Amino acid sequence: MNSKYFSVKQAYSLTVGTEVTLRGWVRSRRDSKGVTFIELNDGSRFKSMQLVVDAGVVLDETLKQVTTGSSIAASGVLAESPAKGQAVELKVSAISVYGTADPVTYPLQKKGHTLEFLREIGHLRVRSNTFGAAFRVRNALTHAIHTFFQERDFIYVQTPIITTSDCEGAGQMFNVTSLSMANPPRTADGNVNWQQDFFGRPAYLTVSGQLEGEIFALAFSKVYTFGPTFRAENSNTPRHLAEFWMIEPEMAFYELEDNMALAEEFLKFIIRYVLDHCREDLEFFNERIEKTVLNTLEHVAESKFGHITYTDAIQELKKSGKTWEFPVEWGSDLQTEHERFLSEELFKKPVIVTDYPKDIKAFYMRVNDDNKTVRAMDVLVPRVGEIIGGSQREDRHDVLLQRLRDSRLDEKAYWWYFDLRRYGSVPHSGFGLGLERMMMYLTGLKNIRDVIPFPRTPGNADF
Ligand code: ATP
Ligand code: MN
Repeated sequence: MNSKYFSVKQAYSLTVGTEVTLRGWVRSRRDSKGVTFIELNDGSRFKSMQLVVDAGVVLDETLKQVTTGSSIAASGVLAESPAKGQAVELKVSAISVYGTADPVTYPLQKKGHTLEFLREIGHLRVRSNTFGAAFRVRNALTHAIHTFFQERDFIYVQTPIITTSDCEGAGQMFNVTSLSMANPPRTADGNVNWQQDFFGRPAYLTVSGQLEGEIFALAFSKVYTFGPTFRAENSNTPRHLAEFWMIEPEMAFYELEDNMALAEEFLKFIIRYVLDHCREDLEFFNERIEKTVLNTLEHVAESKFGHITYTDAIQELKKSGKTWEFPVEWGSDLQTEHERFLSEELFKKPVIVTDYPKDIKAFYMRVNDDNKTVRAMDVLVPRVGEIIGGSQREDRHDVLLQRLRDSRLDEKAYWWYFDLRRYGSVPHSGFGLGLERMMMYLTGLKNIRDVIPFPRTPGNADF
C-alpha cells in the first residue's frame, strides 16, 4: 500500500500542505465559475472531504465522468478551507475515475430520500448519510460491548446457531432440515420421519444462547454470548426482526440484584462509549432524526435507573387514568404501550420491572417465596420499550423440574440442563440485550429495519 493514500478521516487530521490521494465515492458535484466542487466520501467518517478542482487542472472528459455515485481517486494538497464548517479541503491536481455512475439511473441522487425508499435499495443505502452514520454507530457499539465485558474478565463464548432444544418452549422457531420438502421420508403413521433428517431429530435456528451460556457460566463464572438469534414470530412491527443480534451475559453467584446492577452499568458504559466515539454521527441523528437523542443519552449516562415490581407497575397503570388498547390485569404481560408509559411518563428514564407472574415467564426463572412470581427483570427505556430481558435462574433441581412439567416441556430434552442443578449448582443470573433495540435507542431511528445491515422480516429477505 502506497503511503500517499489516506482515508478522509485521516486526511482531516493531517496538517495543511500535506500531499495526499483520497479514494471514495462522489456524494455531489457543483460547478461554479472556473471551479468544480466535489464532495468525496469513503465511509471513514460522517463528513465528506471537499475537493476543489480549478478549471483546466483535470481533463474535461475525465471531469465529465465525476458525477454523484461515481468512484474516484483524487490527488492534491490539503489546504485551509474558506468554506464554513470544515477546516481543510483538497486542492486537486489529478483525478482518476474507477467507476462511473449514470446520473439518469443512479438511485441515490442528492435529494433527501425516505427511509422506506432507501430500504428498497439496501445495496446502495449504506452510501447515504443516515445509514453511514447508523452503521458506524453499530460498529462502535459492538466494540463497546466487547470492551465492557473483556475489561471485567468475562469469557466470550460462541453458543450454537443450530440447536435441537427449543429454548423456552416459545415455539416460533425456524426449522433447519436437509430433508426434501416435496417428498420427506415418512413414518408408518404418515408423519415426517425426523430420524432420517440430518441430525436424527428436528433442529432449529436458535432463539437464544442462554441455556448453553449457563453451561459455560457454571465453569468460567462470568461469560457472555454475542451472536445472531432467530425468531419466526410473524409480528410485523417496527421493533421485531426475524434475525437479530443478542448479547447475553450469564454470571454464576449473581442474584437478581447483582444482575440488575450489571445491566445498568453495562448500558451506561456503552452509551458513554458511543457518545465519546461517535459524536459526529449522533449529532446528525439529533438534528435530523430525533431531536431528543443527545439529551436523553447524556441524561441516562448520569442518572440512576428506576425500579418497580410488576405488581406495583400494574397498580400504576391502573391508576394512570389512561385508556389502554390492551387490558391491564395482574397476570397478563406488559404491552409496548404499558412499557412506554412506565419509562416515558412515570419514571421519565430507564426503569427495571421485576418479579413478573410465573405463568407469563419462562420455566427457568427462579420462583419467589410467594410461589406466584419469578425473579425476572425487564429493562424498559423511553421510545423503545423493552430493551433487556433477564432473570435469576432457577438453581433448585426439584423446583425446576416442577416448572418444566407445568410448562409441558419435554423433560428428556433438558437432561443436561438438569445436570447443572445436580452437580455443583449455584445461584446464577443473566440477561439478553437486543443489539438492534439498543441501536434504536442510540440513533432515534424508529424502525428496527434501519439499524441492521440487512433486515429479515416476514416476507422480506432481500440482499
Ligand atoms: P418482546 O416482548 O419485545 O417481543 P421478548 O420478551 O420476546 O421481547 P426476550 O426473549 O426477553 O424478548 O429477548 C431479549 C431481548 O432481545 C429483548 O429485550 C429485546 O431487546 C430483544 N428482542 C427480542 N425479540 C426481538 C426481535 N424479534 N427482534 C429484535 N430484537 C428482539
Ligand atoms: Mn423479554
